Formats: sequence, C-alpha cells, structure tokens
Amino acid sequence: MIYNIDFETLPREALEAIQLKRLQSTLERVYATVPFYQETFKAAGVTPADIKSLDDLAKIPFTTKQDLRDNYPYGMFAVPMDNVVRIHASSGTTGQPTVVGYTKRDIGTWSELMARSLAAGGATRGDIIHNAYGYGLFTGGLGVHYGAERLGASIIPVSGGNTKRQIVIMKDFGPTILTATPSYTLHLAEVAKEMGVDFKDLNFKFGIFGAEPWSEDMRQEIERTLGIDAVDIYGLSEVMGPGVAIECHEAKNGLHIFEDHFIPEIIDPVTGETLPYGETGELVFTSITKEAFPIIRYRTRDITSLEPAPCICGRSHVRMKRVSGRSDDMLIIRGVNVFPSQIESVLMKRDNVAPHYQLVVDRVDNLDTLTVKVEVGESLFSDEVKRLQEIEKGLSNDIKEYLGVSAKVKLVEPKGIERSQGKAVRVIDNRKV
Ligand SMILES: [Zn+2]
Repeated sequence: MIYNIDFETLPREALEAIQLKRLQSTLERVYATVPFYQETFKAAGVTPADIKSLDDLAKIPFTTKQDLRDNYPYGMFAVPMDNVVRIHASSGTTGQPTVVGYTKRDIGTWSELMARSLAAGGATRGDIIHNAYGYGLFTGGLGVHYGAERLGASIIPVSGGNTKRQIVIMKDFGPTILTATPSYTLHLAEVAKEMGVDFKDLNFKFGIFGAEPWSEDMRQEIERTLGIDAVDIYGLSEVMGPGVAIECHEAKNGLHIFEDHFIPEIIDPVTGETLPYGETGELVFTSITKEAFPIIRYRTRDITSLEPAPCICGRSHVRMKRVSGRSDDMLIIRGVNVFPSQIESVLMKRDNVAPHYQLVVDRVDNLDTLTVKVEVGESLFSDEVKRLQEIEKGLSNDIKEYLGVSAKVKLVEPKGIERSQGKAVRVIDNRKV
C-alpha cells in the first residue's frame, strides 16, 4: 500500500520543481535565522539568491557532525524555543551528543513519513506493531510510535530490554509486525528459542529493521529464523530520525528516499565532489521542509549509491542501496579498507557459525592485527578441537580471499559475545594512533 500516493509517485519533473521551491525557501530561512549557516555561506561567497537550480546546491558548503557539536546544544535551531515541542539527542557513543528539535509541524511531517515507511514495509491499519526500538532521547522508538498511530495501526510501545517479557507479549498479544534493530532481533530469536517459543508459530508477517548497517545475508538469516519478510529502514536524528528512506516490501531492493522532503547527494568522501547516480560514495542530505532543525548538505558518513530506475512498487522516489558501512567505521588494516558489514557477509556465507561477531583491532610492533571473534552454535562447540581449528582456518581464508586482508579468526562459545539491547558494538579498536 502507498500511504501518500500523490507525493510518493510524483513524476521526476514535478518532484524537482517542488524540491527547488522548498530548497530556496529553506536556504533563505536558515541564512536569516542560524548564524552558523550565514557565516559558512558568506565564507564560501554564496547567498541563497545564487541557488537558481538544484545543481547550484553544490555551491553551498557541507555541514558536519563536528559543526553540530560546536553549536551544542541549541545553536543550529532555526526557530525560537517557544515553537519547539520535542527535543531528541544522538547517543553520543563517539563523542558529545548532538541535539535536535522539532516544531509541531515537524512532528506532523515525521509522523507522515513514518506512516509512509510502515506502509511500504507491509503495514496496514489492521496490523499490530511490536515496537522494540528504544523509547527516549533516541529517535527510533517515538518515530515508529507516531508513524504507527498516523497510519492507524495498533502499536505496542514495548521499547528495548526486558527480553523475556517481550517474548511473552509476542505470544499473548499476537503482533504481526516487528520493529527493532537487526542485532536485537537475533537476540530476541535466541531468547525465544530458550523459552521454547518458535518465532514461526507467532503471528509476525513483516519486520522493519534499521538503525545499524546490516548485510543481505543477515536479512536472509532473519527471514529464515522468524518466518517473515524483512525490510530495511533508514534515518538519522540529524536529518529527522527513522523514516528518511525505506525499502518497499514488494522489491526489497534499495530504500526509497522521501525526496519531497530531503535532497540526497552522493559525494567523494575525500574530495567532496558530487558523484553521478550509480557511483558509490558518502551520502549527503539537505532537508527542505523542516522548521526547527533544518540541515543543509549534511555529511552522514554513510557509504551507499543512488539508483534512479523505476521500481515495481510504483514509487518514483530514488532508491539508495543498503548502507555498506560508515566512512568513520571504515577500518584501515595495513592499508586495506574494511567495513564490519563486509566481514559479516563473509561469516554468514558459512552455515555453521552464529550471526554474532566482533572485530578487535590491535597494533603489535607497529603492525595492525585484526581478530574476528565469532560465535559457533552449541552443537559445534562441543566438537573436537581439531574441527574448530579447521573452521577458524576456513573463515580466515575466506576473509583473505574476499577482502584481501589477513585476519585471525577465533571461535567463541555460544553467548561468548555480549548482547546489545540496541545497536551492536561490532568493533573494538585498541590501536593508539
Ligand atoms: Zn519500491
């Protein structure tokens, strides 16, 4: 089902006309109200009046996470606080948190885009949504919540944690759609199994997973274990929260970006040059309808590419490929670029290892070493040591062959890797650079 058929199927020309008008008005507003933007535009020798086409957007400077930190907490807000009705903040796991705000109209826009997303992921008014994204400063929980209510579906605001209770609720309340991070979903499946509950006996039809990069193989693992169709959702608090882009369950092949609200670009992360459709680089977003926290050419650090071809679902909005990693998560091991998601893909090609893994990077005698810790199933772990060593060697060879990097693989006992209640910690980098 397409929630907003008029806007989600707009022909390209009409869509671009709307984008230009909204972009120009956003630029004028931020120039007048946010000192940061006025200063950076002036330094680049550009004013909003210079932007006469969508291509002119490339004249505007980028905004980075550091810029948001420098203006902590409210320096990037474009409206007075009495117009702000909601404040969220990023987790701050990699530094000072960034703070974002919403007007009443922003919450309305976000709710609509999340309603569109849930519908694209298979939800209808008749569905019951089990929402295991965390409620709080993180945008995941409340984003899904407001979208579900806008759509008219029933929402169970279960949030993250209390995993055993979640399984009981799944059995008793009969939810048909699961929303969670992919890593927490696998944890839920594990706990369910321990409790003697088979996910396939529950009522779930669809799952909408995101907030961390996950691979195509992980999707297949989740679909097989849960007996559902799984789609990928994308968003980040700096741009809005979840619902910036969503995969349609019909194609499950790339995420439609809601282009009537956001303008995406792909740039070369090193030179900053804009790249054409189809090329892989860093995703950059400009919001064109937000009031409290407009964001101009924000460098997401997420690595992907854009696909403009028409989609079988009927939506006309461009699709971004599943995020393959973050440019700041990218590990450089002895000169080779490695993303955790690439390691994940290699591991999941083998059916005797569990989907829980962690990368540990060390520097020994000025040489980088990569250790991949990966869990094996119960039955395998009780096998003889020789068999385990064979598997370790096999995985190590696979990683060398596919990614061109030497890694030591260490199999660990079931549950040997700590479970996250939200986003998984995939990399431990012990190097002091
Ligand atoms: Zn589609």
